[in-house]
This record gives sequence, structure tokens and C-alpha cells, in this order.
Amino acid sequence: MGRDLGPDCRLCRREGEKLFLKGTRCYTHKCAVARREYAPGQHGLKKGKLSNFGIQMREKQKIKRIYGVLETQFRNYFLKATAIKGVTGHVLLQYLERRLDSVLFNAGFAKSRTDGRQIVSHNHVSVNGRRVNIASYLVKPNDIVEIKTDAKTTAQLKNNVETTKERKVPAWLEADGANLKIKVVRMPVREDVSFAVNEQLVVELYSR
Ligand code: SF4
Repeated sequence: MGRDLGPDCRLCRREGEKLFLKGTRCYTHKCAVARREYAPGQHGLKKGKLSNFGIQMREKQKIKRIYGVLETQFRNYFLKATAIKGVTGHVLLQYLERRLDSVLFNAGFAKSRTDGRQIVSHNHVSVNGRRVNIASYLVKPNDIVEIKTDAKTTAQLKNNVETTKERKVPAWLEADGANLKIKVVRMPVREDVSFAVNEQLVVELYSR
């Protein structure tokens, strides 16, 4: 699947807030949002008032960027969410949270979701004993996600666990950092999403 290969920090600056796309750097003074508080590009310093459409569009872009998902896949998640009983925006976030790259990030095994994607695509992960190398794989309750890899990568991931230990693991996951193992306890709910997003704006945008 394709993904945005441009500079991550530029995406944060475009949204005007930290999206935490680069792991530990995001928590240091090197963060580009902290150093340059304006949008990237020639007209970055110009500030105009956004229309309703613009506000909805920016929120959608923000959520897509946080999870590292491109438009087609994001819209597919939305379409699936509309077909399921429940609050569409919440179901949409549930799909995004259940992605394997996101699960590794939430458990602290990956420094960022991009890092999580790389760990999965390099074949280091198994779900219920079977190798999975698709970052968009959706976990479900009672799944066991394990890291099965060489000693060098295992040490790197354990180091990730150590450096991200300040981050709270959401209650729908049980993470065992010592054995690099995650149990999916239940489906994620809206309250498990740890950052501020307004998913209702995305629902309004796609319902136009
Ligand atoms: Fe965003 Fe992290 Fe770059 Fe800061 S360092 S701009 S939070 S990706």
C-alpha cells in the first residue's frame, strides 16, 4: 500500500499541532512545530479564516496523517464504519486503532506508527502464532500479538519499550514489554483514543 513519503514534520506544521509522527524527537526541543509555529511553504505565514468545509477537511487530513493512512483506505474505513451499527465516527476510529502498526505503537513497542509499520512489514510480528506482514491487519479481541525476530531487533524493540514507558498503554491492550507480547483484551472504544480529534467533522465532510 502506498503512503506519504514527504517529511513528517511538514505534516505537523501544516496541521499546526504535534501529530507525534517521529518518535522520541517529538518530545524534544527539535520538534519543528515548537520551532516554527507556522504552516510550511511560501504562504505559510499567511493566516486566513477557514470555511466549514476547510475545518472539516483539515480534521480529516489530521486523522489520516496521525494514522499514516492515504485517502482511499481512509474512505474505505469510513464506508465500512457507516455499514456497522454504532456511532460512525467512533467506529471509524476503532478501525484505525485496530491496525497492527497502531497496536505496536500503542503498546510502546514502536516509537511511532511509521516505526510500527516498518516492524510489521519486515516480518517481525506474528498474530496468534502466524506471521503477519500487513500493517493494516485488524486485530480483534483475544488476539495475541508477538514479536518473533532476531536478537538484535528484539533488543531494539525492548529499548523502544524502555524509552516509551512514560506513555500509557490503552486499557484495551495488555502489553508485556519483557516478552514483547500483546493481548487484545477487547475492542477499543472512543475513550481509548489518546489524542484530541473531532471525528464528527469527518463524518460531516463525507456526508456532504
Ligand atoms: Fe511532528 Fe514529531 Fe516532527 Fe514535532 S518532531 S513536528 S511532533 S513529527
